Amino acid sequence: MELINILLVDDRPENLLALEAVLSEENYRLVKATSGEEALRHLMKEEFAVILLDVQMPGMDGIETAKWIKAREKTMNIPIIFISANYKETEHLFAGYSAGGIDYMVKPFVPHILKSKIHSFVGMFLAQKRLVAQKMLLRQKTEELERINRELAAAKEDAERAALARTHFLAVMSHEIRTPMNGVLGMIDLLQDTELTPEQRTYTDMIYNSADALIKTISNVLDFTKMESGRVELEEYPFEIRSLIQGVFELFTPEISKRPLTLTSHVDEQVPMCLRGDMIRLRQVFVNLIGNAVKFTEEGTVAVRVQMEELDEAGAQCTLHIEIEDTGIGIPAEKLNEMFKPFSQLDSSMNRKFGGSGLGLAISKSIIQMMEGDIQAVSLDSGALMEFTVKLQLTQ
Ligand code: ADP
Repeated sequence: MELINILLVDDRPENLLALEAVLSEENYRLVKATSGEEALRHLMKEEFAVILLDVQMPGMDGIETAKWIKAREKTMNIPIIFISANYKETEHLFAGYSAGGIDYMVKPFVPHILKSKIHSFVGMFLAQKRLVAQKMLLRQKTEELERINRELAAAKEDAERAALARTHFLAVMSHEIRTPMNGVLGMIDLLQDTELTPEQRTYTDMIYNSADALIKTISNVLDFTKMESGRVELEEYPFEIRSLIQGVFELFTPEISKRPLTLTSHVDEQVPMCLRGDMIRLRQVFVNLIGNAVKFTEEGTVAVRVQMEELDEAGAQCTLHIEIEDTGIGIPAEKLNEMFKPFSQLDSSMNRKFGGSGLGLAISKSIIQMMEGDIQAVSLDSGALMEFTVKLQLTQ
């Protein structure tokens, strides 16, 4: 344990010895001075917990010495216990020192009172030291936290800049690729209308399908980047949900004509004939979800069901609950959430066969959330179920 410095000041060596005798067995290091000047020299060099100071000394007396001690910033807070031979004189002298860790004792002093006075001043000194150490630690921690905060803010800015640059790059690239691809598709279209040998027709069909798949992927990437950067705003126009679903079904009729696959739909009677909302974006969700169901279902049914979940009191807004159920390959339960992440495809062999970008569900989820709804996937015994809600306006 670290020793605690105590300064004993008295011009008479026998008095110093007496003090030393009282305090020797404690955990103190006793430093002795026989004059005020010598005491001040010690105080310049070392740190003390308390000073025992004789009042009457030749040359610089105790009162003068104390004035110097209290005048210096480094020593002003060290408590002083004056030792005086005369009680009356002491009382008078110390009136001006009522504050600031000043105490006094009159000779002959009672050892255990001196001990307990010293003990309480040392206790205060140690508490003060602990406080200073804690303050320093706190300041260090605060500085460290401030530095970490600055680094985090800089890292966040970097990440935002990088994300913005990526979004911009994807948007520009998608646009640049889409424009010439439209030319390619247009030309294949024209080529297909010319006279071709069966072999040439097979090749042009293949070129058409590849170009079509590519342009769909590019459109998805463009859409996704727009959604991510919050540049998509919903529009509002009247539409009829039953014909919207029929229109989407028609898109897939050629594809399912060679398969024992049926598309069915049921729209609850309570669902109004005419709704208002962003029909184009809602259609995009249906195309993605029904498209997936058709893609991953070799035979059976793809069933679409629409129900009224909620109608607000004013009758101006409703929430629709929509389900798309298929009898296809299904979704493993542990991958139900993963599939909504951008670019996630659950089965690589299936996706090699069917293509796709892994963006359809991420885009659909963004659109649905913009329509104040939510989407989830459910794995069935045989097949998959996608269910989502959307908020739409009623036409008055
Ligand atoms: P993709 O363009 O690959 O279809 P999506 O984001 O639409 O991208 O779908 C992500 C993945 O989720 C698909 O690749 C597929 O593995 C899985 N998935 C989506 N819908 C179904 C479904 N109805 N049945 C089985 N798997 C599905």
